[in-house]
Amino acid sequence: MANISSIYYPQSGKLVVLGAGESGVGTAILAKQKGFDVFVSDKGTIAASYKAQLEEEHISFEEGTHSEERILSSDLVVKSPGIPETAPLVVSLKAKHIPVIAEIEFAAQYTAAKLICITGSNGKSTTTMLTYEMLKHAGQHVGLAGNIGKSFALQVAREQFDVYVLEISSFMLDDMYHFRADIAVILNITADHLDRYDHKMENYVDSKFRMIQNQTKDDFFIYCLDDPETKKGLMRHKTAAMYLPFTLEQEVEIGAYLTPDKDIIISIPNSDTFTMRTEELSLTGKHNVYNNMASGLIAKVQELRNQSMKESMGSYVNIAHRLEQVACIGGVNYINDSKATNVNSVWYALESVSKPVVLILGGVDKGNDYDMLRDLVKNKVRAIICIGKDTAPIHTAFESDTELIVNSSSMKDAVQLASHLAQKGDTVLLSPACASFDWFKNYEDRGDKFKAAVMEL
Ligand code: ADP
Repeated sequence: MANISSIYYPQSGKLVVLGAGESGVGTAILAKQKGFDVFVSDKGTIAASYKAQLEEEHISFEEGTHSEERILSSDLVVKSPGIPETAPLVVSLKAKHIPVIAEIEFAAQYTAAKLICITGSNGKSTTTMLTYEMLKHAGQHVGLAGNIGKSFALQVAREQFDVYVLEISSFMLDDMYHFRADIAVILNITADHLDRYDHKMENYVDSKFRMIQNQTKDDFFIYCLDDPETKKGLMRHKTAAMYLPFTLEQEVEIGAYLTPDKDIIISIPNSDTFTMRTEELSLTGKHNVYNNMASGLIAKVQELRNQSMKESMGSYVNIAHRLEQVACIGGVNYINDSKATNVNSVWYALESVSKPVVLILGGVDKGNDYDMLRDLVKNKVRAIICIGKDTAPIHTAFESDTELIVNSSSMKDAVQLASHLAQKGDTVLLSPACASFDWFKNYEDRGDKFKAAVMEL
């Protein structure tokens, strides 16, 4: 059974793909395979490798422009999550009642695989990868897609996986209507991307809760019971799926929780209870206890053996740029958390590292409210080094909470300043709370430059 009944969208005719990135090119290839007349349009330049793929598949495309007339005469449009609802072309398409959907929504029509979908403001990639590794380790025939790696659509076209672990962002969810997740996970909901949601938290929460729309009583919904915004969302959104909460704050009969002795307990109906000490987890920090609980619940639903789960949870090595240990130089520990692009993830980073900390912070400010960091900064941070163009909000936020706040002129400069300010036993932590595109190409580039600068010390 496909994950969307195929009656909702045209199954042939003219299909336009807006945006020729990983998901757009994968969509074009799948759509061509299914017999659509496909046209790809990208307002920017298309990367050479994607152009080559389109040419190889004989799929027509344009770049640097959108040919409106051609696009507005299509039967179905699959749009990149990066293009906002408010883009004039999208507005015109909607006015003409041409369906505009996400890659995942489109591709789900053509697979019967079980879909495990992970969303949240923070921890998506970590939990998605950890889950994928766990299922693979247990011998399941599993694919990894969504915001990560090869596109879901391309894999639906070319692979025959039994199950997929999909990392899903709220931008994707906004263009998903009939999609059904077999297992839906909302890790947490904290302020991010509010510029795309009329600056209303409620809209962003509702977007995340689209994860559970269409779920049936055979499905599962995994969520964090300690998360205030998720709790608010739960009052407005219901599902027939089985609720599997995880929490660090109370005991639950079904779901995952922590004992006073810091043992993780995971129980789901008709399965033996899973127990593991938190010290045995390979990923450290409170946030990673949550991530492990979410992955553990998925593993239980997937009927993994407790021993196999323990092996994975005890040995998983995180992908780069997430609290990544870089080096210990002259007794100072350097940690790269470049992926921390919002305030909440910096909170968890500061919470999990040992003090005193020299914190490298800043970049493109998305309207950050630094209030929640104040106590941790007061207690743990020796100095803040600002990176990026817009340093004023950081000075204003923390001037009374730490002794020293200095600006830097480059990542190299920031790391050198940090190495002078840090004393033996300190941690130098890059955890910027901001987007990276003022000084860097992306968060990976920012993290790589940090690591290179540390290695030059
Ligand atoms: P995402 O894919 O949602 O951006 P990542 O797994 O890449 O999430 O982690 C992004 C940042 O958030 C990292 O800095 C990481 O340390 C932090 N983080 C990871 N998991 C959580 C969580 N459950 N809650 C809060 N912060 C988290």
